[in-house]
Amino acid sequence: PYGRVFNFSAGPAVLPVEVLEQAQADLLNWQGSGMSVMEMSHRGKEFQSIIDGAEADLRALLAIPDNYQVLFMQARPESVLVLCPFHPQGGASSQFSAIPLNLSAEGDTLDYIVTGSWSKKAAGEAKKYGKVNVVATGDNKSVPDPSSWKLSPDAKYVHYCDNETIQGVEFKAPPVVGDKVLVADMSSNFCSKPVDVSKYGLIYAGAQKNIGPAGVTIVIVRDDLIGNSRPSTPVMLDYKVQADDKSMYNTPPCWAIYMCGLVFAKMRRDGGLAAVQQANEKKAKVLYDAIAGSNGFYSSPVDAAARSMMNVPFTIPANAELEKEFVSQAAKRSMIQLKGHRSVGGMRASIYNSMPLDGVQQLANFMKEFAANSA
Ligand code: PMP
Repeated sequence: PYGRVFNFSAGPAVLPVEVLEQAQADLLNWQGSGMSVMEMSHRGKEFQSIIDGAEADLRALLAIPDNYQVLFMQARPESVLVLCPFHPQGGASSQFSAIPLNLSAEGDTLDYIVTGSWSKKAAGEAKKYGKVNVVATGDNKSVPDPSSWKLSPDAKYVHYCDNETIQGVEFKAPPVVGDKVLVADMSSNFCSKPVDVSKYGLIYAGAQKNIGPAGVTIVIVRDDLIGNSRPSTPVMLDYKVQADDKSMYNTPPCWAIYMCGLVFAKMRRDGGLAAVQQANEKKAKVLYDAIAGSNGFYSSPVDAAARSMMNVPFTIPANAELEKEFVSQAAKRSMIQLKGHRSVGGMRASIYNSMPLDGVQQLANFMKEFAANSA
């Protein structure tokens, strides 16, 4: 319907039609309030009910224990704008600095597991704030064997990226770090499967892949980790300020929070995260089977044990020239954004929660046809 394409973008990414229709219906007059969500005071009872509902639904979906705060943080904090006027986007990237600023003091050791581009960036930013120990560096196609990890005895936390969006490397279980505080970047697989939040000190995720539009970053953080920020922490990045003011220290990204709320409500209606995971596993299997069944025409650069359910990179090893052709022919059939990230090349199909099974099946059919025509 609506002449929509199958959008395999890594993010901002596809949203459920049902949610977009709801937003459309609400656009001029949200639930009889006489105004759109974009026009409401964030201090009014209408918006309060929207943010409370979004938080309640997210808490129910992830079974978030009571001793964790849910923060809806700005993608573009003023403070970051001032510090770095040429790179105004905050997003999940602003958490790369917020985490060391809130969870450690100057000179502390900070452990980072590096499995791809995003965890490398997070570690790079943390070096400004502490002594970064790289626990292990992956080969971009697997999770390094835990027996090779060099955890520091005194690290304030262990940071890792649960799903590397560019490489398509995903942890299948949380890393085991003993009594250390575990911090996870779940930007590209947030709410794609049930997660035991109690194993984590902090989980963060930009909204614009699985749960909504760009503009808001979710932070789920355990109570005992709040309240020890460094004095130099920008107020907008301070978890205590955000927690005390219920994410409303200043004007929050109201529209983005509203959209996430609609997505959370739909996920609950559809059976919660166990159902979401089942659907995602099915979709990923269709694509990985298409690669495996191509007699080597297509290849997955990732080891089977670490293949992402969300971002599926693949190449045409015998003739990389054909990759461009693949992407352009697919686009003519309304399957867009299949080009791999500019840093790694090849193709990448991002198949987040809202990508329908039909889109993945059509892609798999096209892969088969393209391989046959190119042989
Ligand atoms: N972490 C991961 C895993 C990501 O995929 C991204 C965005 N692609 C980021 C962090 C950065 O997010 P943002 O653009 O919201 O800063």
